[in-house]
Amino acid sequence: MLALQGDVREHFHALEACGADPVNVRRESELAAVDALVLPGGESTAISKLLEVFGLLEPLRQRLRDGMPAFGSCAGMILLAAEVLDTRPDARSLSGIDMTVRRNAFGRQVDSFETDLDFAGIDDGPMRAVFIRAPWVERVGDGVEVLAQVPSGPAQGRIVAVRQGGVVATSFHPEVTGDLRVHRMFVDSVRERATV
Ligand code: GLN
Repeated sequence: MLALQGDVREHFHALEACGADPVNVRRESELAAVDALVLPGGESTAISKLLEVFGLLEPLRQRLRDGMPAFGSCAGMILLAAEVLDTRPDARSLSGIDMTVRRNAFGRQVDSFETDLDFAGIDDGPMRAVFIRAPWVERVGDGVEVLAQVPSGPAQGRIVAVRQGGVVATSFHPEVTGDLRVHRMFVDSVRERATV
């Protein structure tokens, strides 16, 4: 659990509820010890800055290149992108997923909103998705699977959840709704990778 800034506690609790054993990651030695990493919602430019200050930027890029699974929500999605539009020129990203995301993409009227959406690979009905000054995905590379899109309204069809290999990202915040299905899917996929 990347614990530099953002809604770390909400993810932490969701991971515990899925039977995972989360630990906070703030230094390189802690990053080296985890099997996977969750990147929280928060403020991507602040987290980017702190990644540099804490000397985690390059080690984290390296672990992602080496295939470490990761899950990022909202600001975490932005950090995992290969390219970010509408961010600060000095913001860094991690290239965990071959995608271009637009920060704060949903515009002012709908800065924050909720909707029900279908999420590929997750059954038992639609998922309540909470968007808070969320990004959307404008481009995905060949190896990237689209998991969810906005079902209706002005942003209909916009991509809001993706996966590439073991790295998952959502524009919305599964950690705040009490619906554990995304975390469970992620934790299960990390376990499967660990046992093969
Ligand atoms: N708008 C924020 C950013 O740019 C993300 C918001 C969030 O994580 N809820 O990082």
